[in-house]
Amino acid sequence: MRQEWKIGNVKITSIHELRVSGDNEFVLPDASNDRCKEIPWLQPHFADVEGFLIFVVQAFVVDTGERRIVVDTCIGNDKETGVEPWDNMQTEFLDELTAAGYPPESIDTVMCTHLHVDHVGWNTRLVDGKWIPTFPNARYLSARAEWEFWIEHEEEHGFDLVRKQSIQPVVDAGLMDLVEWDTQVCPEVRLEPTPGHTPGHVSVVVESNGKSAIITGDCIHHPVQLTKVEWCSSADNDQQHALNTRRALIEKYVDSDTLFLGSHFPPPTGGIIRPLPDEDGRYWLECD
Ligand SMILES: [Zn+2]
Repeated sequence: MRQEWKIGNVKITSIHELRVSGDNEFVLPDASNDRCKEIPWLQPHFADVEGFLIFVVQAFVVDTGERRIVVDTCIGNDKETGVEPWDNMQTEFLDELTAAGYPPESIDTVMCTHLHVDHVGWNTRLVDGKWIPTFPNARYLSARAEWEFWIEHEEEHGFDLVRKQSIQPVVDAGLMDLVEWDTQVCPEVRLEPTPGHTPGHVSVVVESNGKSAIITGDCIHHPVQLTKVEWCSSADNDQQHALNTRRALIEKYVDSDTLFLGSHFPPPTGGIIRPLPDEDGRYWLECD
């Protein structure tokens, strides 16, 4: 499945790899079905009538006309992930990407918001028993702070599997660039630091012709966290830091015209953050 948005002269396309529902507490331990059922604006797009939250794993292609940037590369095929349902997946992701007009060799930049297993997978693919870069003509960008954290803590966080399959082959091919976490990638695209979920986590801001959007990675896992801002993810490296960043990001963008695109938000995926009436510090996502 795919979705498209126009931000000024930039086209953003999301390519879905996976839709997930049925275990809220796997990602958000506080998000019991009963509690989610009590938040009516989540239905029908972001939760079902039983209170099960809906997530997707997706990549965004940011097409400026000059540049083709893939933001987050999902889980990938044939990977050993340490998360059982994601092991050895076989999806049509690359065919979907090509069908959207973006064959892998046409991509010039790959930008991962962070280096978790579900955001770097299609960095590489398995060919004749070897992991090779999926996007041979791209520079792969990583925030330096993110890179340095994972290299230092590789063993304690089980990063070695991710590195061997999805990172090192890119480094070995000479395609990896470490960048500052507020870098301007091109005139329409810049990074915005959003640490906490991981220490070097970044969001990706798109600006063109007075319009803007922000791709928020795992800074906010699910739209429910706009209302329950305090609900933290079991995958947050530092939950208090993640919470502070999430709250600051929401307060920065509330009632702005910036389209908020969550990397795991299911369709319609993008919307404008609005305050909930009479509920101080609580918000919802207004989608067209
Ligand atoms: Zn994720």
